[in-house]
Amino acid sequence: MTDRPGRIVQGNMIGLSMPDIDRWSDRVETVLGQNPGPFTGPGTNTYIVGTSSNPLLLDTAQGLEAYLPLLKKALGGRTLSEIVLTHAHPDHIGGCPQLCSEFGALPIRKRPWTGMDDKAGDHIAPIDHGDVIRTEGATLEAIHTPGHAEDHLCYLLREERAIFTGDVVLGAGTTVIPEHGGDLLDYMDSLRHLLGLEPEVLYPAHGPAIRDASGRIREYIAHRELREDQIVDLLQRGVSDVTQMVEMMYADVPKFLHPAAGTSVRSHLRKLERENRATLDSDRWSLS
Ligand SMILES: [Zn+2]
Repeated sequence: MTDRPGRIVQGNMIGLSMPDIDRWSDRVETVLGQNPGPFTGPGTNTYIVGTSSNPLLLDTAQGLEAYLPLLKKALGGRTLSEIVLTHAHPDHIGGCPQLCSEFGALPIRKRPWTGMDDKAGDHIAPIDHGDVIRTEGATLEAIHTPGHAEDHLCYLLREERAIFTGDVVLGAGTTVIPEHGGDLLDYMDSLRHLLGLEPEVLYPAHGPAIRDASGRIREYIAHRELREDQIVDLLQRGVSDVTQMVEMMYADVPKFLHPAAGTSVRSHLRKLERENRATLDSDRWSLS
């Protein structure tokens, strides 16, 4: 692997800044969730979608006090018609109670995930792959994209050939495949599915819009394929321990991100295991 780069996706979310309120198209505006961090970047992008006085809100961030005044400022005199969610992680679903106490019991549309949806309250209107949500000026088609989270829906905005990618493709860096609810094999299938839709632009849940949509998805696929090759190479050389793999593969990454890198390495090993290519025996991995 000496003649190949160590990583394909460059950069990360740290230090990235964006305006609190922004307009990305005639029918898409963003309001930042006021929850910046190493994994959320400038914070969660919540999206006001539609052209009427009753647009919908796509993702709600995590319910921080500083968010609501910004949302109301962005809405001006408008009110919300409904909430649409990409997935049940707290920085996407956590604002539901805050918004329902401000705007009334709004319908909350998401793909159900047992045990994870409590923060959304008790009036979820379940949706699934292929369902279409219409608001004036915008038509959203739900696309089931598991891998980062098993309930994850991306949304194709037909009027713009844009995809709201949630946490599947981010505006900078790569996404996490969590131990709970994450699955790298599913994730790779989800990326290939999104690529097949030939989007023109991606609107991620964190970071700026991605104008080279297909290029970025291809980069994400290549990035994971390279990581997999590196892990298979290490297994071939008899490296069987995740911590050791992280130290060898992520020498260029700050130490405080190594636990997240460990999660990523384990996601690759679980994928290899699912494909009957690797085996775990008392904390030691080997090729099958
Ligand atoms: Zn997430």
